[in-house]
Amino acid sequence: LICIEKNWAGVENLSLIPGTVGAAPMQNIGAYGVEIKTVFEGLEAIHIKSLQKRTFSNAECKFGYRESIFKHELKGEYIITSVTFKLSKKPAINASYGAISEVLKSKQIENPTIRDISNAVIQIRSSKLPDPAKIGNAGSFFKNPEVSSSKFEQLKTDYPTIVGYPTENGVKLAAGWLIEQCGWKGKMVGNTGAHKDQALVLVNYGNASGNEIYALALEIKKSVSDTFGVEINPEVNIV
Ligand SMILES: Cc1cc2nc3c(=O)[nH]c(=O)nc-3n(C[C@H](O)[C@H](O)[C@H](O)COP(=O)(O)OP(=O)(O)OC[C@H]3O[C@@H](n4cnc5c(N)ncnc54)[C@H](O)[C@@H]3O)c2cc1C
Repeated sequence: LICIEKNWAGVENLSLIPGTVGAAPMQNIGAYGVEIKTVFEGLEAIHIKSLQKRTFSNAECKFGYRESIFKHELKGEYIITSVTFKLSKKPAINASYGAISEVLKSKQIENPTIRDISNAVIQIRSSKLPDPAKIGNAGSFFKNPEVSSSKFEQLKTDYPTIVGYPTENGVKLAAGWLIEQCGWKGKMVGNTGAHKDQALVLVNYGNASGNEIYALALEIKKSVSDTFGVEINPEVNIV
């Protein structure tokens, strides 16, 4: 909100992602075509065992798709105490994401400001993501899987409406679409289920235990693997 008010661009596409600043680099949070690594300059952290303070540059964080060094080699070793971002006073608007451009079009906004982008993102997210204060959920449960171009071509023959985005190494598939095709969208299993508007979000309708959510996740993973021959893996940390 401060960035929008001051017209500092770079994080507007990440509007409404719940969480603290310190957690943002952990999984290189991202949404609507932007990841935190694109505006990340560095961070300060304290090594839990030695209590030594250390800085990490962008490269040292080894950011990847929902990944960083803090989820791997340095898992559980550091507490992030401050993060520095490099924002732009000259907005470079990123409205390439389909849903954002649709909202802007419907509002007849041709030259969007970062506030327009933020508002569009908030509108899209509020319309399809359940509010964790009302229904327990951790946002997207699985990462979007990447497959080779040849695997994508084969899938496209069998499933012409499959959704895929080209990447450096192949094609990224929409995990939500795969899960939905397997019939999970809106399906309830005991106190758990895949959300009715976004199958990628697993929800806790009552007092479901972590084990029940995990069991559901395994079932969903298996059905996607059996149907498409594609492995989907959790984005969330399983503790
Ligand atoms: C409805 C909903 C929508 C979401 N949408 C998105 C999305 O679009 N994109 C996306 O990337 N994520 C999304 N998420 C996931 C979540 O918002 C992010 O992972 C966020 O960074 C979590 O922040 P938190 O403060 O709650 O961290 P927590 O969940 O409390 O912690 C996450 C991990 O980081 C560690 N950690 C937290 N703070 C620190 C620190 N200061 N130093 C070291 N380690 C730390 C914790 O130990 C834990 O391992 C969504 C979640 C929900 C519920």
